[in-house]
Amino acid sequence: MRIAGIDVYLHWTFWLVPVCVVCNFLVFGDQVWFVTGASLFLLLNLSICVLLHELGHALVARRFGATTKDIIIAPFGGLARLAGMPKNPGQEFLISFAGPAVNLGIALLLSVGIFFAGGSLIPPSVFESLNQLPLILLWINLVLFLLNLIPAFPMDGGRMLRSVLARRMSYLQATVIAGRVGQFSALFFLFYVALERQFLLMPVGIFLFFSAQFELNRVRSSEVKELERDSSGADSVER
Ligand SMILES: [Zn+2]
Repeated sequence: MRIAGIDVYLHWTFWLVPVCVVCNFLVFGDQVWFVTGASLFLLLNLSICVLLHELGHALVARRFGATTKDIIIAPFGGLARLAGMPKNPGQEFLISFAGPAVNLGIALLLSVGIFFAGGSLIPPSVFESLNQLPLILLWINLVLFLLNLIPAFPMDGGRMLRSVLARRMSYLQATVIAGRVGQFSALFFLFYVALERQFLLMPVGIFLFFSAQFELNRVRSSEVKELERDSSGADSVER
């Protein structure tokens, strides 16, 4: 799929969702048909919000001269792979903030819509009708906004943390610190959802853990490439 000239893909952890649905049936039995069907429909709507969030990053990045290689959508989260990111911590901070800002914008629009339609803005305790979808999406977007501000890599708060750290240390050091904080949080999250038997949430933890490592490897290899380019540059001066 291509949007605003950017390729959009589904991450492989998306295909773990059907596996987790089956696990849910095995554990809780067949009384969960409505919940499962409605959850999958909600997941579809949520993925659209995630896509808009990533487009927020991509379009602000474009303003600062970076291009977006592609956007990867995972269950409950996504990743915009940017190339030629500005080495300016202030601009990186704004690009990172653009995604959560989209979720805040969606939440505000939904709350205005629900308010003028005469609905209640109080979050429902049970998901029993598809009419509740706008209200549920409103609260999920608010939660996504706040979750993304948590300073744990690879969430946007982690990138924002890195851009703050990068003012005082090297970009690589800042990435290592923010990445380890993110992986520790992902392990803690996986441990928690396993204890709570919330198997539908396990792909999120797995995705968070691996994308922290992915980002660290990406920054390491780009630093190595830069060193090689610098040393070959020095060589050509000598010659
Ligand atoms: Zn984001």
